[in-house]
Amino acid sequence: MKLLEYQAKEFFAKAGIPVPREKLVLSVNEALSAAGELGLPCVLKAQVGVGGRGKAGGVKLAKTTDEVSSHADAILGMDIKGERVERLLCSEAINFTEEFYASITTDRANRSMVLMVSAAGGVDIEQVAAQTPNKILKISVDPLLGLQTFQTRRAAMFLSDDKEIQKQIAAILAKLYRMYVSNDLSLAEINPLVLTSDNQVIALDAKVIIDDNAMFRHPNFEGYRILSDDEVLEQEAKQHGLSYIKLSGKVGCIVNGAGLAMATMDLIKRYGGEPANFLDVGGSSSPDKMLVAIDLVTRDPGVRSIFVNIFGGITRCDDIASGLLQAAKDAPLTLPVVVRLTGTNEVEAHKILEGTSFIPASDMADGARKAIEQAGGS
Ligand code: GDP
Ligand code: MN
Repeated sequence: MKLLEYQAKEFFAKAGIPVPREKLVLSVNEALSAAGELGLPCVLKAQVGVGGRGKAGGVKLAKTTDEVSSHADAILGMDIKGERVERLLCSEAINFTEEFYASITTDRANRSMVLMVSAAGGVDIEQVAAQTPNKILKISVDPLLGLQTFQTRRAAMFLSDDKEIQKQIAAILAKLYRMYVSNDLSLAEINPLVLTSDNQVIALDAKVIIDDNAMFRHPNFEGYRILSDDEVLEQEAKQHGLSYIKLSGKVGCIVNGAGLAMATMDLIKRYGGEPANFLDVGGSSSPDKMLVAIDLVTRDPGVRSIFVNIFGGITRCDDIASGLLQAAKDAPLTLPVVVRLTGTNEVEAHKILEGTSFIPASDMADGARKAIEQAGGS
């Protein structure tokens, strides 16, 4: 999971890495009061998950109150590489003389970690890496030994000739490493790590990626997750034991089993339709699961019809049918629902649905075609 800058800076602050005083804001008014607290000039920074915000116009220095409001207004709502800016970080402006780069990441090929530093940090680091790789020092860190003092010292000496500044850099790198290991990160990056005009070394930007495979060891990190509307639905489905992935078509799918769910989407495509989602309600579907499934699918405003495709093995078709009836009772269905139920207790299921508004399908292909037709074609 990739954190936004303001979240990554919380990790930095906890680890004891110096960062500017700053405040997260969501509106122009909040930016104005944050600037009042922090003092002018201040820097307004778009909080999005993509890099290169500076070059895209997402990082702006404001010297006056007027500039705070005009910059905040310009950046909020801006589109940066497909991400809409909804949060701003208002940060005290820092005067600096040097921009360094520092990062720790996993080096799979060498089964180790790698510490990378460069004195040519800032917005052009990719170019530096491509054109003048000798300006980047890479130090391999053995996971059993950890980052050694001689290594942080070597990195610090690569960045500065000044003993006092080297000390500060070495201390920051050691903290960055401890932070990386103790939080199970896959990337900890500072770009730029600046030398201020009064000789302090401080992290102006922060990038942190948490290894998803280690999230179970840090359940509180879930709080950092910022979900889009689609992801909210997907998380909710997960909590109910369903796997749901939103797509862009008009035919909502409710299916048991991942394989059948894939086949159902294929068939809808084959007959010229577009599935609105992937949804696997899993085995042994209780009527309750059907209620949740219908609720999830109908909350997608793009859905025009629903295709329920169930193969009853352990799952009993009559349970599914009761679930469907219950769902229709709880919240009257405004969408046409095509139902194909086959397998265990299918005769009972068909009886339950007889004379209701659910549209029966004789087989999968018939169901797919009817659902597309009900959705008003492709
Ligand atoms: P990125 O472009 O997404 O990596 O965003 P950064 O946070 O790294 O900001 C881009 C650039 O803006 C930095 O490399 C700095 O040159 C500049 N910048 C950011 N904060 C400050 C600040 O407080 N003062 C000054 N003078 N420049 C800043
Ligand atoms: Mn940066």
